[in-house]
Amino acid sequence: MAIDSVQWSAYRIPTDRPEADGTLTWDSTTLVAVSVRDGGVTGLGWTYAAAAAASLGAEELSPILLDADPATTPRLNEAMVRACRNLGRPGLAAAAISAADIALWDLRSRQLDLPLVDLFGRYRDDVPIYGSGGFTTYDDATTTEQLDKWVNEWDIPRVKIKIGESWGGQTKRDLARIDLARRVIGDAELYVDANGAYGRKQARRLAAEMVDRADVRWFEEPVSSDDLEGLADVRASSTLDVAAGEYGYTLGYFARMVGAGSVDCVQADVTRCGGFTVWRRVADVVDAHHLQISGHCAPNLHAHVAASVPNLRHVEYFHDHHRIETAFFEGALSPQGGALVPDRGRSGHGMSLDEASLAAHRVG
Ligand SMILES: [Mg+2]
Repeated sequence: MAIDSVQWSAYRIPTDRPEADGTLTWDSTTLVAVSVRDGGVTGLGWTYAAAAAASLGAEELSPILLDADPATTPRLNEAMVRACRNLGRPGLAAAAISAADIALWDLRSRQLDLPLVDLFGRYRDDVPIYGSGGFTTYDDATTTEQLDKWVNEWDIPRVKIKIGESWGGQTKRDLARIDLARRVIGDAELYVDANGAYGRKQARRLAAEMVDRADVRWFEEPVSSDDLEGLADVRASSTLDVAAGEYGYTLGYFARMVGAGSVDCVQADVTRCGGFTVWRRVADVVDAHHLQISGHCAPNLHAHVAASVPNLRHVEYFHDHHRIETAFFEGALSPQGGALVPDRGRSGHGMSLDEASLAAHRVG
């Protein structure tokens, strides 16, 4: 067995309306995909990054993968990491490594004709999700429509909205939107994500306020995720669960975060942290601290690996990625009773690109 082809591609896909969180505004999402072939079998991986990740992958990672044995993914993952030493591993390099790692696991499980979850070993049959969107750019009608769809149409019992608008400069509107969300979702669990917009004391004041008025249960990145002490401070002063980890590109990042007592739940992203290989190790590191892990975004990529670990909390069913994975892929999972159920009738992660619908969006 040897890999005989590695193909990278990038697609920029406009959002359905203008989007922003507390600290960033965007109008498109770039999908970077890699296909790894061995004879007649192809594995597919992807990440959400910049098109430059595809060039980086083609230049630095493809030579490592060509002619390699697809049954040696842990070794190939390490070889890719070592090759990126002088490039700076966090960011684009880690995103490209993650996509390649995912493609390798997908290829191997398709060769064995197994669903990925059975290759990893199944802990659970379905994976709880939470609806994620509620952008700060939405008006009340749009927020209401989205939350109502998740909770009342799709039976998802937990949802998250973005707060921290304008770097924490619009706290009255943040609280009004939290009140609106509570009215729309009834008894469902309410989460908020500030994307690091607030200062420490501001975050503590808001945490107390949102617990009192709307029973908010999850406060994601109340302060910058680089401020491990600040996260720990908010965590210690509130009954809310504090969560962070989406910018983790190495295993050591997560070890430092849990070692500092910064979070109640670690969010790791298979498309950034080093693929399935590293995500599973993050779950173990977190478990050793008696904490849970949540899969950040890319719900169809997290479904199988999330079903393989005992300390899973849930997977983030992010609006942008749900939309892309449903519109431009074949095989996307639909929520069932607040969960994703990995399709064990298909091998690998069960997803393939719809090249025809993506062609118009190709940028690399
Ligand atoms: Mg977040």
